Amino acid sequence: MSLPEEVDVLVVGFGAAGAAAAITAHDAGATVAVLEKASLGGGNCLHSGGFLFEVDGPGAIDHLDALCFGKTDRSVLSAYADGLPEVSPFLNSLGGATAAVEIGAFGGMLPSWPNFPGAGHARYRQFTPADKRERPGIGLWRLLQHAVCDRDIPVAFDAPALELKFDQQRRVVGVVVECGGAAREVGVRGGVVLASGGFEADQELCDTYLPLSVVSVGHQANTGDTLALTAQAGAALWHMSAFFGWLSFVHPEYPAAFTLDVHAPSFIYLDGDGRRFADETGWEVHDKVRSVTAYMPRRENRPQMPGWIVFDEAARKAGPLHGIVGSPNGYEWSADNSAEVQAGWIHRAENSAELAAATGLAPAILRRTLADYAASVSERRDELFGRAPATLAPLVAPLYAIQMWPGVATASGGPRRDALARVLRPGGEPVPGLFAAGAAGSIWGHLTEHGGGLTDAIVFGRIAGEQAAHAARPALSTQQEAV
Ligand SMILES: Cc1cc2nc3c(=O)[nH]c(=O)nc-3n(C[C@H](O)[C@H](O)[C@H](O)COP(=O)(O)OP(=O)(O)OC[C@H]3O[C@@H](n4cnc5c(N)ncnc54)[C@H](O)[C@@H]3O)c2cc1C
Repeated sequence: MSLPEEVDVLVVGFGAAGAAAAITAHDAGATVAVLEKASLGGGNCLHSGGFLFEVDGPGAIDHLDALCFGKTDRSVLSAYADGLPEVSPFLNSLGGATAAVEIGAFGGMLPSWPNFPGAGHARYRQFTPADKRERPGIGLWRLLQHAVCDRDIPVAFDAPALELKFDQQRRVVGVVVECGGAAREVGVRGGVVLASGGFEADQELCDTYLPLSVVSVGHQANTGDTLALTAQAGAALWHMSAFFGWLSFVHPEYPAAFTLDVHAPSFIYLDGDGRRFADETGWEVHDKVRSVTAYMPRRENRPQMPGWIVFDEAARKAGPLHGIVGSPNGYEWSADNSAEVQAGWIHRAENSAELAAATGLAPAILRRTLADYAASVSERRDELFGRAPATLAPLVAPLYAIQMWPGVATASGGPRRDALARVLRPGGEPVPGLFAAGAAGSIWGHLTEHGGGLTDAIVFGRIAGEQAAHAARPALSTQQEAV
């Protein structure tokens, strides 16, 4: 796709945020182009479960504020809450459909945070793919991509944004992009929208900012380019240590790690030393990975990773360990995990000694850990970690074990934005001509709501697209309002 010399709005990144920004800017009358670093669009939308979320009522902002641990300006949360009810109608307007997800569905996974302020007002939806065999995240991406194509918006693939260009007033007026092996510049009249995602696929950045060593369960091109572009603009950063993710299984033949969830209570987590390290069941679904950071001062050291999930036959048959919606890795996980046992991804053992041999864990420590857990089950009391008695299910041989690494789906850290999606300098002044949306500096300050990633991308993608178009031609929006 040939790129224009100059556009009103240049969108960096062709995921959900970039697509929403491009569509909105175009529909506001702006000329638009999109740069995408990878050879395909979609980013983490392809990996996602297509879940969406809304919250309203008097406690809506308190709910979001509680999740963000007070680290996101309430005006930004307010803009987000205002945009949430528009997400499904926006997708409908593009020809897509969403369906309500019942509270209590997916094994009682929802609501995510039932005890937070305003929780009774949280509602969830899921994108309904046109082809019912398709994963919801892929169907959602197909819809957004078609909407961009239908509008003849040029998208350059294998075209990473390398550098921002500024005028003498430090307004962003262009982007240097690598295109066809050469660097060239695209001029911008209104604004650049950073929709270039997080840094979760960059080991060094994750090690620097996140509180644990992680692998990525999502899009592999998210290596923190947003941070480099943000630094060039002298912009402020926020949420650098925030993330959500899953415990996950790494297979060298698949670029993204496989997310792991166990669908029956007969399982425990072990660290690399063969010890339990947390209440395995007391976490929100996106937050279980945080169990690895829950260092207990009574323990001898921090949990060593990789660790293991040990489970029994009841848990093996309860559903695929690889989440509820699978992944775009091109691998279909078997419903009862038998194919993965057969492939040797999951080890099967008749007793503790066999399990130690299969996993390489110290036999004596493993035997002790299993005995301690069995004692907790029979006493209905988990003295070490306070796991709820109702979840203390016995582990009945044969036992299974799958290796687990902490996996991150989205690292929130990136440019601070305001309610108009403008990127801010330290002190709060906007960088003229620079906007950000979605995972490029996500609004989520500590915890993330179920459906909070895609909605952040779509709500702020739309705001950024509108604002950047307006910046190019202020008259445009005024005229449209008049119509
Ligand atoms: C396994 C998994 C399941 C999930 N499930 C859900 C869910 O059900 N609901 C939900 O709300 N959220 C979910 N999420 C999170 C959600 O997918 C993301 O928050 C959302 O897709 C982010 O969209 P984005 O467009 O902001 O960023 P991304 O999807 O990360 O897109 C960024 C794009 O920018 C490109 N890029 C990077 N650098 C450059 C550069 N220099 N130049 C040009 N392009 C660049 C990247 O290649 C990428 O295409 C899930 C995530 C994962 C990993």
